[in-house]
Amino acid sequence: MKILTADHVLPITGEPISRGAVAIDGEDIVAVGLANEIRARYEDVEVTDFGKAAILPGFVNCHSHLEITAMRGSLDAVEHDFRSWLLKLNELRAAMSDEEIEEAAFLGAKEGREAGVTCFGDVGRSGHAGLRAMKRAGLRGILFQETEFSPDNRTAEDDFKTLIAKFEKLQGEATELVSVGLSPHAPYTVGSMLFEMIAQFSIINRVPITIHAAESANETELMTRGTGFFTEVYERFGVEWASPHCTTIEYLERLGVLSARPLLAHCVEVTQSDIERIAANGARIAHCPKSNAKFGHGFAPFESFLDAGIAVGLGSDSVASNNLCDIMEEARFASLTARNRPGSERFIGPREMLRVATLGGAEALGLNDKIGSLEAGKKADLAVISLDAPAQNPIGDVEATLVFSTSGRDTIATYVNGKPIY
Ligand SMILES: [Zn+2]
Repeated sequence: MKILTADHVLPITGEPISRGAVAIDGEDIVAVGLANEIRARYEDVEVTDFGKAAILPGFVNCHSHLEITAMRGSLDAVEHDFRSWLLKLNELRAAMSDEEIEEAAFLGAKEGREAGVTCFGDVGRSGHAGLRAMKRAGLRGILFQETEFSPDNRTAEDDFKTLIAKFEKLQGEATELVSVGLSPHAPYTVGSMLFEMIAQFSIINRVPITIHAAESANETELMTRGTGFFTEVYERFGVEWASPHCTTIEYLERLGVLSARPLLAHCVEVTQSDIERIAANGARIAHCPKSNAKFGHGFAPFESFLDAGIAVGLGSDSVASNNLCDIMEEARFASLTARNRPGSERFIGPREMLRVATLGGAEALGLNDKIGSLEAGKKADLAVISLDAPAQNPIGDVEATLVFSTSGRDTIATYVNGKPIY
């Protein structure tokens, strides 16, 4: 057993505790409370006191692409529109070996654990890179095996077989901490039949899925009117693809995909009725405000997601677009941009933001029975953040200090399943 104490303990499901403690037995949290009480209850147990710091549940990054970590900083010279970014990305990727991709993915996972991230929802086209990176870094997570470019219904059967073969192979590498899901990439790269097959597979086998959905105006144009940039790509490659003439969310509902309760990344281009459909189906959202801003895709109606009761977590997206995996910075940016967005309805304060960054992310990944808050019975996945820097002081409100004056680089320790991994 061990006890961790600090000036502030934030259970997330309860009020912050001054001079608090977390008692850990093996992989599990057994008690959270006042340091003096916990120490009295568990005599002769080793105590680590972090002093002027905060202990909170580890951050959950519910949308990342660890396998393209090496491309950070190499894509900023391109005009940040999605098309030129993607073309340049593919060019850089083709120049790298599988070993190099894997090594870079590990460095991305290491970056996360050093910034208090204990769990990733990672999307990978090669799959192995992100999965092995999380395992090697001692992290928890779900690796979502992504589809290849497969918008044509004529190849749906084969595309599905290829995907499931990759998925089954990856499952052989899964552990108690790192499991495997599927990611039909986006409505414009996955045909309607393939979407239906994946949704059925997900429901029958209880396999989690994630989708890039309603990310840009280009996507909305294609879905609702069947025109724009993507149609040129289809013509060039001789792809048969018919526009459903409805929003992305309506389309996913029509195909039965929303009933699989997918984790929808982005959801920038959503109507009020789309939000109601997401909520009614129990689908979840990965909010990636910095990536959306970098591409100029606009603002997701973040507070409407929360007010509709949807499970929402934060995602860094890839560091090739962000360019960081820092969930505290993401939380700060999410709060500030939601506040300043035209039509913004209310302020999302630090308490609500910390919940989204931890428990919200756990709910979005369907892991909230295990992680996301500091409570007896949950797994001991936690982050310890120093509060000692001049920029963080004085501390009038520890939650505001964390969200508005703290960086992932202030992290001093990270634990997963009760084990220090940083
Ligand atoms: Zn993404």
